Amino acid sequence: MPEGDTVWNTARVLHRALAGARLTGSDFRVPRLATTDLTGWTVRESASRGKHLLLRLAAPDEAPWTLHSHLRMDGAWRAYAPGERWSGRPAHLIRVVLRSPGAVAVGYHLHELALVPTGEEDALVGHLGPDLLGPDWDAAEATRRLAAHPEQTIGEALLDQRNLAGVGNLYKCEVLFLRGVSPWTPVGAVPDLPGLVALAQRLLAANRGRWTQSTTGSLHRGQTSYVYGRRAQPCRRCGAAVSKEELGERVTYWCAVCQPERSGTPPPG
Ligand SMILES: [Zn+2]
Repeated sequence: MPEGDTVWNTARVLHRALAGARLTGSDFRVPRLATTDLTGWTVRESASRGKHLLLRLAAPDEAPWTLHSHLRMDGAWRAYAPGERWSGRPAHLIRVVLRSPGAVAVGYHLHELALVPTGEEDALVGHLGPDLLGPDWDAAEATRRLAAHPEQTIGEALLDQRNLAGVGNLYKCEVLFLRGVSPWTPVGAVPDLPGLVALAQRLLAANRGRWTQSTTGSLHRGQTSYVYGRRAQPCRRCGAAVSKEELGERVTYWCAVCQPERSGTPPPG
């Protein structure tokens, strides 16, 4: 599940493979960019912003451009050595290939693929809230944005990238379990919202640099989450069956015993 940490890892893979390199070829397999040729362009850096990937380039005239992509549920970038077999995904899912002397980067099932002047990045990512894994992470601002909509359920508010950028469904479910908060709790009734935001950041940060996402501390298959993906299995804390229901546009997993419903105003402090 590509969430902020996966995108951060992907940005690092691309940075290591391509940063500083002059591209020797490109192959876009999306209609809008089909005639775009990045041969001779230089890759400056690869960065992530929430769940968005920003590959910053310099055109031959040195003008700064950004190749934007979004992984959504199913996208991926892979870097291969020249001549290495592309083992990532079926070929029909390839959306772009970038070749350099030292590496080949292949983007699979990418969404929102766009090439824009770097100065116009804000049109693509300017709406995002503070990036949980960004160098300018601002917990107070993220908390303020969440609190600005006290009637919204915390389950939906955490997924709204305008509040804070990087939390996907897995971290949403897990952070709410760990804080004992029902996903249906109105934001205004969540006790210690700053503590919840801080925990979300720590969970994502802990998964930087590895591809197996774990919130439990275990990397063993089937033991990496408390409630996410565990419908009807026993809660790791109380043994009650984990629930799964739709909340907004997404499903949510929770333990009704450990995460009781709350309403009204939060306790003082
Ligand atoms: Zn429980």
